[in-house]
Amino acid sequence: MSQKESLLGRSVSQILELLQPLGEPEYRARQIYKWIHHHNVDHFQEMSNIPKSLRSILSDHFQLKTLQLAQKTEALDRTEKYLWKLADHRMVESVLIPESRRNTICISSQVGCSLGCQFCATGTMGFLRNLTPGEIVEQVLQVKKLSRHTLTNVVFMGMGEPLINYQRTIQASQILGDPEGAAIATKKITISTSGVVPKIYQYTDEAHHYGLAISLHAPEQKLREKIMPIAMKFPLDELMESVRYYMRAKKRNRVTFEYVLLSGINDSPAEARQLISLLSPFRCKLNLIPCNQNNLGFHPPAAEHLDKFIKTLLNAPFAITVRKNRGEDITAACGQLAVEVQEKAIFMK
Ligand code: SF4
Repeated sequence: MSQKESLLGRSVSQILELLQPLGEPEYRARQIYKWIHHHNVDHFQEMSNIPKSLRSILSDHFQLKTLQLAQKTEALDRTEKYLWKLADHRMVESVLIPESRRNTICISSQVGCSLGCQFCATGTMGFLRNLTPGEIVEQVLQVKKLSRHTLTNVVFMGMGEPLINYQRTIQASQILGDPEGAAIATKKITISTSGVVPKIYQYTDEAHHYGLAISLHAPEQKLREKIMPIAMKFPLDELMESVRYYMRAKKRNRVTFEYVLLSGINDSPAEARQLISLLSPFRCKLNLIPCNQNNLGFHPPAAEHLDKFIKTLLNAPFAITVRKNRGEDITAACGQLAVEVQEKAIFMK
């Protein structure tokens, strides 16, 4: 039996198009859109201002949620990891990080990833497929219901490179940031990229209001190529030029650079000094992320190395934050998503 199409992740006009054979007006599509994305209902029967006959037709032909929760784990620091089974039995993860002033969900945009960053467990899976806008949005909607924490921020930093799955990422972000949709403030939605340069230009030209984060991980080309193969295709100077273009267009915005610290690879004071000269011209924040253990042979810097690195950066004219390792005991931390997923995927099929 063929799978019913899901209405989740569709815009009002896309829902209207599907309702066309029924001759339903635009406002009806808008009501349905709002029930799905704003009220987060699980069943068409809950849509109380939709005529009963239409609700029955909708449930005969369409479905709403398609992600099945395979596992939810909570770390000692209250970080929650959600493992989802997709309709085609593939698996993806989302991670909720509760903090004192915000609760951030880190969502996936692809199953696996083609970019093969050396320190990243997802990269070892290779690329399996893009997620649909519905599968991206649903991670947020389901966690809204399943977590006791109120979601405030969304970051595209789970499995996959969101700018390679560009149109679906943007459509999902539009629904997440729509007051009639998931109603997350657009400034609290951040799209993180490893540096897909042409898409940064496109993103800038389309004038989206979501935050942009750049996964930098090295302050110079040769080292970046070693850690992130994408740097061979889009060199560092071209990446920084695209960020300059973005900054010029977004006069009041600042950009975040993510920097995973890998012991003995990119964590020396020399690299810290290179970072200062590379990033000083930008209104930016540098987010340092000591890497996590994930069986790929990388280690976080020893405390004294981290200390030296940070001290070297103290005179930098930009803000610096050091991300605490969250959820490490449940492998929900940065660069850890995937290996377990693969094992579980085999188990779940
Ligand atoms: S760090 Fe991001 S872009 Fe790089 S392999 Fe992992 S998921 Fe892909």
